[in-house]
Amino acid sequence: MTFTQRHLLGIEPLHPTEITTILDLADDYVRLNRQPQKHGDALAGLTQINMFFENSTRTQASFELAGQRLGADVMNMAMQASSIKKGETLIDTALTLNAMHPDLLVVRHPHSGAVDLLAQKVNCAVLNAGDGKHEHPTQALLDALTIRRAKGRLHRLNIAICGDIAHSRVARSNIILLGKMENRVRLVGPPTLLPAGIGEFGVEVYDDMREGLKDVDVVMMLRLQRERMDGGFIPSEREYYHRYGLDAEKLSHAKPDAIVMHPGPMNRGVEIDGEIADDINRSVIQEQVEMGVAVRMAAMDLLARNLRAARETREVMA
Ligand code: ASP
Repeated sequence: MTFTQRHLLGIEPLHPTEITTILDLADDYVRLNRQPQKHGDALAGLTQINMFFENSTRTQASFELAGQRLGADVMNMAMQASSIKKGETLIDTALTLNAMHPDLLVVRHPHSGAVDLLAQKVNCAVLNAGDGKHEHPTQALLDALTIRRAKGRLHRLNIAICGDIAHSRVARSNIILLGKMENRVRLVGPPTLLPAGIGEFGVEVYDDMREGLKDVDVVMMLRLQRERMDGGFIPSEREYYHRYGLDAEKLSHAKPDAIVMHPGPMNRGVEIDGEIADDINRSVIQEQVEMGVAVRMAAMDLLARNLRAARETREVMA
């Protein structure tokens, strides 16, 4: 087993063997989660604090469940209602929490880089649950696990990531992960929703869905992230659905066994047709949610092992 990280701040710092280590352990946790008795003890005695400065449904719930299943004491800080509203800085909040001796801190923040900054100020393991447009590492890992289980491998696949790429931390983390594992990634979307400097990512770019989806193994749809848009990026939702919404006709250009993914929350009738989303022969959207719990259990387990090892080394040295 190779996993040397202290924190999980992004996919960028991970070595491909570390990605495989997380996914292999997550496979074990998928098996555990399907048993009537789902409890492990990898985090027994440890305290996990979830700090979500942005709304979340799936991510927060699955981090909470993951911690509980592995025996941690889990606390959710209601950040909307906390001292942040009274003007306390992120660093002051972090230092206050640090004084309560958490072992794992799970943080979502609207600003890119905020979670990295916080990780420098605390002495526990920090997991990035999404920071601005930057990274969402556990989402990319759960997507990777879903793909690996559906396709039997995680290399040499053709994968199309479609829609609002410019505002998406999910797209960014996935592009990095899928590239590290030697897949061919295509980005498909209107030029206004592609990030600047796209050339550096080593991906192919298409503004036509039918061309972009031709013969792909995986179709990953993204939500139109209106909360991050500060202008008119698309003419109208109707027009967007017409050109970029995934429906049966557009999907027919992908391989016959291509899978359909979406990180949620979905806007049915905007980026995806409801029938495609619910088609159990094509859509793996529910599997993604299931894999989310297992991947978060695996990530916290591995970080906790490194944390315990570092503490033991410090004790020996002292
Ligand atoms: N849930 C994902 C995220 O937090 C995707 C989305 O919001 O569209 O980035």
